[in-house]
Amino acid sequence: MSATSFLRDFHEVAKIGATPNAGVDRQAATAEDRLTREWFRAFAQQRGWEVRVDGIGNQFALIEFEPGAPHILLGSHLDSQPLGGRFDGAYGVIAALHAADRIAQRVAAGGPRPEVNLAVVNWFNEEGGRFAPSIMGSSVFAGLMDEQQMLQVRDLAGVSVAEALGEIGYLGTDARPEIAGYAEIHIEQGRILEREATPIGAVDYSWYTQKLDIEVLGEQSHTGQPRWLIGTTHSLGPRR
Ligand SMILES: [Zn+2]
Repeated sequence: MSATSFLRDFHEVAKIGATPNAGVDRQAATAEDRLTREWFRAFAQQRGWEVRVDGIGNQFALIEFEPGAPHILLGSHLDSQPLGGRFDGAYGVIAALHAADRIAQRVAAGGPRPEVNLAVVNWFNEEGGRFAPSIMGSSVFAGLMDEQQMLQVRDLAGVSVAEALGEIGYLGTDARPEIAGYAEIHIEQGRILEREATPIGAVDYSWYTQKLDIEVLGEQSHTGQPRWLIGTTHSLGPRR
């Protein structure tokens, strides 16, 4: 493994769902998402790693060093927004695969044997472009969202998560790996690194998004003083 082979893989994956402006369109459980999953699976299988898909479509590649030991999990997501960037998520998954491969090669060559196992993950529907809410696969994995409830979520065409995953062959039944830790390389999520001219950063926490659909009931009348107000009390809706 080398920088050259990493870049070759990175550019290969960026071709899947490529958009004219050098971005990608790989919304969750679409044909393009399936192609990135096939690429991920091939990478793992060529190296003899075990591949698993859980009940919400998260894809794992597992490398065993110590039978029965928990896994250090690395990864990110290969799905994208309808007009996503090529680095978002993909960098983290491909970098994790290459890092894991490097470690496996060192161990195979007689290097120090890790006390834990390694796993690389491609989270399902991290972006939420097709199925809301986003961070779906990782939240189900972490026990923050209910798997059965998420499988019933429908896209704008009425297709459920369960149907869409079944369609691309990724509605799995495999056990989730037991993990001892998780690391993810990701493009920065704010402007602070650029503002402070820091080339790379490690975050120790992140913010959790909560997206609300709010229906405002009222009546449009004239500019100036509205006939209804939203605000000072806990109720939403027309007030006179
Ligand atoms: Zn991302």
